[in-house]
Amino acid sequence: MDHFLYKSGALHAEDVPLAEIAATVGTPFYVYSTATLTRHFQLFDDALDGMPHLVCYAMKAASNQAILKTLADLGAGMDVVSGGEYARARAAGVPGDRIVFSGVGKTKEEIHTALSEGIRQFNVESEPEMAVISQVASSLGVVAPITIRINPDVDAKTHAKIATGKSENKFGIPIARAREVYAHAASLPGLKVVGIDVHIGSQLTDLMPFELAYNKVADLTEQLRADGHEISRLDLGGGLGIPYTRSNEAPPLPVDYGALIKRTVGHLGCEIEIEPGRLIAGNAGLLVSRVIYNKSGEGREFLILDAAMNDLLRPAMYDAYHDIVPVVEPEAGAEMSDVDIVGPVCESGDTFAKQRPMPPVFPGDLVAFRSAGAYGAVMASEYNTRALVPEVMVHGDQFAVIRARPTFDEIIKRDTLPEWL
Ligand SMILES: *Cc1c(COP(=O)(O)O)cnc(C)c1O
Repeated sequence: MDHFLYKSGALHAEDVPLAEIAATVGTPFYVYSTATLTRHFQLFDDALDGMPHLVCYAMKAASNQAILKTLADLGAGMDVVSGGEYARARAAGVPGDRIVFSGVGKTKEEIHTALSEGIRQFNVESEPEMAVISQVASSLGVVAPITIRINPDVDAKTHAKIATGKSENKFGIPIARAREVYAHAASLPGLKVVGIDVHIGSQLTDLMPFELAYNKVADLTEQLRADGHEISRLDLGGGLGIPYTRSNEAPPLPVDYGALIKRTVGHLGCEIEIEPGRLIAGNAGLLVSRVIYNKSGEGREFLILDAAMNDLLRPAMYDAYHDIVPVVEPEAGAEMSDVDIVGPVCESGDTFAKQRPMPPVFPGDLVAFRSAGAYGAVMASEYNTRALVPEVMVHGDQFAVIRARPTFDEIIKRDTLPEWL
């Protein structure tokens, strides 16, 4: 459920008409609903009720300070994958002991910063990384809490670009080598092993791969404990999928996911961390765009929008489907016709939808891309010197610009000329 509904024929974000935001901010823009973000965080938090736990929002999904602060105020931790994200989380007021650091390529500098300012744990992805963390920690006279990300060799049955839990993926340590690698970690002076980490992919629409992975984690926990390691924390990753089409998809609910966690690892007495990103932010955001032209091709109608692949990369990158709806509610029984919905960027990949049934929309009309809150604004670029798309947050009947659209002047001034020119 989200908070983007038609009221009196006009699409609203909570109690704010999108047309009102468009008139103030211009198009295209992203808009987020505070109520939806809050509700989704709460669903996860409630799903783990009765177990010691921390929901660490995977902030790479949407990392605006206003989003982070909204979630942090509810008690969320953060899963960060870069020094930049670590800095963003700290700037939003998240204490270090609520930040977990994931990612295959943590640099010495990033590790140094996190250890100096505070970190809940590093989710370690390789032995070379383990050695570096130990070195940096020792040089600072501290001990770094770590989990080791194991790769359970489970097929997440999701898009190849977001599957991470098969043995051919670059992530984690093969589960078959886990005991050896944990023994190595225990021998390093700058590390304290606190648990196990796993993350098998994103946009999972079936719980079975989680079940397979978490059962493996449970077995491994017992083995590692028998080997003498203190496994007190399990980081079970993110990945729960969201419905991108209104009609036929029914991804699992956080409550069922929570029950699965209790069933598979609940008996181990571990503190549970999860790292949902998409399910918290995805349906909490829309991309709103204006129609520039209707264009007729050879046997094909095009709808040309002022949003493009640089603003929302998912269709070009993952063949992703987004519902695209008019901001003015179509009349009941409005005639639908198939159109290709495209942006102005000079790439054929700049196509949001092909042969999509749409009610009549005309130049100047607004349309909204649903489910655009996660992996939307964060992946935007200024390709074709199109200004980075602004972000807006709604809270009840209020809205605020949470990242302004840069002017062309600001964009150009970021370049500097070498002295010989
Ligand atoms: C991307 C990522 C997540 C979040 O995945 P979602 O599908 O957005 O829930 C969590 N943990 C790690 C390590 C990730 O890389």
